[in-house]
Amino acid sequence: MSKRILILPGDGIGPEIVAEAVKVLEYLKKTHALKIRMSHGLVGGAAYDAAGHPLPEETLQLAREADAVLLGAVGGPKWEPLDIAVRPERGLLGLRAELELFANLRPALLFPQLASASTLRPEVVSGLDIMIVRELTGGIYFGQPRGIRTLPDGQREGFNTLVYKESEISRIGRVAFDIAMKRNKKVCSVDKANVLECTELWREIMTGLGREYPEVALSHMYVDNAAMQLVRAPKQFDVIVTTNMFGDILSDCAAMLTGSIGMLPSASLDANSKGMYEPIHGSAPDIAGQGIANPLATILSVAMMLRYSLDAPECAGRIEQAVNQVLDEGLRTADIHTEGTRRVGTAEMGDAVVAALG
Ligand code: NAD
Repeated sequence: MSKRILILPGDGIGPEIVAEAVKVLEYLKKTHALKIRMSHGLVGGAAYDAAGHPLPEETLQLAREADAVLLGAVGGPKWEPLDIAVRPERGLLGLRAELELFANLRPALLFPQLASASTLRPEVVSGLDIMIVRELTGGIYFGQPRGIRTLPDGQREGFNTLVYKESEISRIGRVAFDIAMKRNKKVCSVDKANVLECTELWREIMTGLGREYPEVALSHMYVDNAAMQLVRAPKQFDVIVTTNMFGDILSDCAAMLTGSIGMLPSASLDANSKGMYEPIHGSAPDIAGQGIANPLATILSVAMMLRYSLDAPECAGRIEQAVNQVLDEGLRTADIHTEGTRRVGTAEMGDAVVAALG
């Protein structure tokens, strides 16, 4: 039976980069008998303009029915004055919440051809391959109570609540351990157990889970040390698992180790491996419509989709290999261009990946 993919291009460079990813999917469908059906929908600012809401009911329904969602990016200055309830980002948050996408997978992989793009020395980062597993639907970003209140003395006080249930900790832990089993069998759980009781429980649950995965080497690290180690010796990490807020910060830090935001994919999964796949970057309004955006993060998001939601690891590997090949051939979009390489636009890069798929 064919799998259903919902394509949501979104705003800014979203439609340009998603078009290249769709070319890759169409090609694999035609030549590698990939059994997929694609439908298209509106999300973000584009959906607000057309339907008055960043996540129209029709899009949500299509997303519920799909096996996987491919999203470009949402947002842009045009929609910034809107009320927060209908800003483009609401579309994204709404999808994550409605689909219960609790596990955010953010690889930080450095293609050796781009080692000089990192701000760190090549010997520190070359060969870097980290998977950050971030809890996405709980923790301090969602905990109640929250707000800003006025105290009896008249001054205001802001407050949020960091809260995790055992079941939330163990389900994200399992995702991390399962991924580690397919990689280098190392999990580093990042917490602040010396200060926060909530992450004391986090550490206890992770330790218990570790006993169920005797082949995986489990370590624990405080988040401040993890931030330091990521820039000091990042290659020590294989899989990092952490809370929503710590993961938010550490995954951006890890992404930057690789030098280009235009190269990094991500996945957000539910308990049944249904997922939403998107590049980590935003809608880049500064370069939208110019045909110069890097489509590789979106194309690599398709590879993650094939591996994690569509059970087609062979096709996923082919895409990753094809991206490697075009980089070997010296093709570069503007964001990763260096002297001695050939500068290409969005569509030319997409075409080159398709050609390299063989
Ligand atoms: P951004 O990631 O859009 O852009 C940051 C910089 O990186 C810009 O200079 C941009 O040109 C460049 N860049 C990003 N992607 C690129 C690519 N594929 N190829 C080449 N260069 C690329 O972040 P921002 O400027 O802070 O945000 C712009 C808009 O995107 C805002 O409205 C923001 O809310 C939104 N945003 C959306 C998402 C998402 O949809 N997941 C994530 C982050 C930001």
